[in-house]
Amino acid sequence: MKRCHGSGGVHGCGSRCWGWISGIGACLLNRISTHFRICNLCEAACGLRIEVEDGGVTSIRGDRDDPFSRGHICPKAIALKDIQEDSDRLKMPVRRAGNGEWEEIGWQEALDEAAERMASVQKKYGRDALAIYRGNPNSHNYGSLLLAPPLLRSLRSKNTYSATSVDQLPHHLAAMLMFGHQLLLPVPDIDRTRFMLILGANPVVSNGSMMTAPGFKDRLQALKQRGGTIVVVDPRRTETAEIAQRHLFIRPGTDAFLLASLLHVLFAEGLVDLGRLQGLCSSFSGLGEIFEDMTPERVAPITAVDAGSIRELALEFAAAESAVCYGRMGVSTQGFGGLCLWMINLLNIVTGNFDRVGGAMFPEPAIDLLSSVGRGRLGRWSSRVRDLPEFGGELPVSTLAEEILSEGDGQVRALLTIAGNPVLSTPNGRQLDAALGQLESMVAIDFYINETTRHANLILPPTPALERDHYDLVFNILAVRNVARYSKPVFKAAKDALHEWQILSELHRRLDRGGFGAQLRRTFLSRLGPRRLVDLGLRRGPYGSLLPGRGLSLARLEEAVHGMDLGPLQPCIERRLQTTNRKIDLAPTPYVQDLERLRQELEPNEVVSDRGMTLIGRRHLRSNNSWMHNYGRLMGGKDRCTLLMHSEDAGRRGLESGQLVEVSSRVGRVTVALEVTDEMMPGVVSLPHGWGHNLEGVHLATAQQHPGVNINDLTDELRVDPLTGNAAFSGVPVWVSDLSTNCFEKTRQTSG
Ligand code: SF4
Repeated sequence: MKRCHGSGGVHGCGSRCWGWISGIGACLLNRISTHFRICNLCEAACGLRIEVEDGGVTSIRGDRDDPFSRGHICPKAIALKDIQEDSDRLKMPVRRAGNGEWEEIGWQEALDEAAERMASVQKKYGRDALAIYRGNPNSHNYGSLLLAPPLLRSLRSKNTYSATSVDQLPHHLAAMLMFGHQLLLPVPDIDRTRFMLILGANPVVSNGSMMTAPGFKDRLQALKQRGGTIVVVDPRRTETAEIAQRHLFIRPGTDAFLLASLLHVLFAEGLVDLGRLQGLCSSFSGLGEIFEDMTPERVAPITAVDAGSIRELALEFAAAESAVCYGRMGVSTQGFGGLCLWMINLLNIVTGNFDRVGGAMFPEPAIDLLSSVGRGRLGRWSSRVRDLPEFGGELPVSTLAEEILSEGDGQVRALLTIAGNPVLSTPNGRQLDAALGQLESMVAIDFYINETTRHANLILPPTPALERDHYDLVFNILAVRNVARYSKPVFKAAKDALHEWQILSELHRRLDRGGFGAQLRRTFLSRLGPRRLVDLGLRRGPYGSLLPGRGLSLARLEEAVHGMDLGPLQPCIERRLQTTNRKIDLAPTPYVQDLERLRQELEPNEVVSDRGMTLIGRRHLRSNNSWMHNYGRLMGGKDRCTLLMHSEDAGRRGLESGQLVEVSSRVGRVTVALEVTDEMMPGVVSLPHGWGHNLEGVHLATAQQHPGVNINDLTDELRVDPLTGNAAFSGVPVWVSDLSTNCFEKTRQTSG
């Protein structure tokens, strides 16, 4: 007799059972099974233990045997069950009929019509008349990652966009210019460092971003317990700052001045030491001189960080046994985002904390995309209306609306979105929303009718996460430990369902205009399918072997249900560096030139009046970008979509917590409840992003009961980092007024 249990726990079907089959992790008599799977909802990639009974998920818990996440889980994981069971989720293609209603249609008809819509617009107006936008969930779906690029290459539109340009473009540019490949991204060796400087990031809530680190809070606590130091620089005293020993408020959008000044101090004090990278760096000579004028005293009034604190921080960073500087959304989405990411790398390099234990290190993933993804190029073409540069084949999405709205040759007339909701996630969402209404044709690959896809003529819904297998192609590139994990589907895909990669392949087949060679490649790729491509990638990777039965392969990974630990990060720069001269370029010309732009702002020219505030975003544990608000269990508790404001600012305006205020910017206005809190820096207000579900035609019943307001109705599409084209969300000038009285007048009287 055998207990009915999986590997590590007792099942709900009773204490003794004959039906348990260990090999497949299932109890046949009671239709119970246990599945180990990686959560693909966010970058943390936690290992999950999922119990299924009678075809439904009964529990989702952290997998304690996962070598990476060690049982960590966040409340969002339960949404995997909710997505599976969500009655708003589309299961078949839908087409908008003449009366505006949606009608369900079959796959063949839908795919034929989708292809026809795209082809006819390109035929009539030219290939750039079709724009493509790919949202963040693509990074969490290896089938889409592998099969979308061939389709995009075949469409050959210069108007290709993604969430990258409202998120992490500066990271990729720094990787390309300094290390020779856009995906060669250093991550903090969080588990071994002794000093961590965190700028514009809240990894306790995000569990790491551009740094896959599940259970980040525990990792941070462990850092403190081993005597390490954490310093957070942020305009808000975030959940991460609460754990840190020190928190410095900084004026939004000024981190580049702080970083330049830290570098100034290091050079001025003779604390620069490249260590073993001495012979591996180029452009070192003269580097210190370019930061000569960035003294703490000069940048202090701009950043609002006092000169003494800047100097102390630089000295401490240099003196630490090991140290790492990490910066994220708050620094990458600002007007000097490109410079920030360059200087963060410089800070780590010139203090000898690069490619060393406890510093910034390169992961060595089991599938190494460096050999199969292009190194990245900047500025091969630029956007038609505003002349912003392309990076890696994509234009900044801040330009999409104007490319639709501005008449002339090359005007965008049709759009294909793949798992994206740019109306909620890109600047001046209201303008984009209006622009989408002007399109001749729009096709969406998505399983929701959301704020963006409501404009589509056709929606093609892919399978949800639990019905497909999973391998993390992207987040192992950013993982703070080398691991490899493969997840089988929990449920068989529903009859008539197509995976995203199958939809992409089918569209590609219908739209392929390449020659015989291209068609052969397409057929080969779609026949092979993403699963076998992953096997090939593993065999060709650093832990695999092309010889049968040797090294890491998909079959080996499938046997290791909790995943395989490939060990801590190792110094590896000699074998990873991709620059042509095999050296790190410390001072790429675009950055040195862009420093002049920073220098011009050394004298603050924008005086922030009592009336004006600056706006920053924020992230909550139970939200994930724009799409996690339709699940009841995540939406309980108090209203999260509030405007945070410091008590001094509120007092000056006669405002109190709970009252409705109007927030306005150059591009729009929203009405939202105020939350007065001293976690904000005076002069700065914060709204979370991903809200604003009250638009007509959205089919998200739960989200619409908690609509919130869209921060991107305030963010400005004209605010970008000109070097990278990345949106500058951080530090948008806004005005806050009481709805019942004109706060501007009140402010004038009190400040009189
Ligand atoms: S932190 Fe991210 S990956 Fe981990 S359980 Fe939550 S949503 Fe999933």
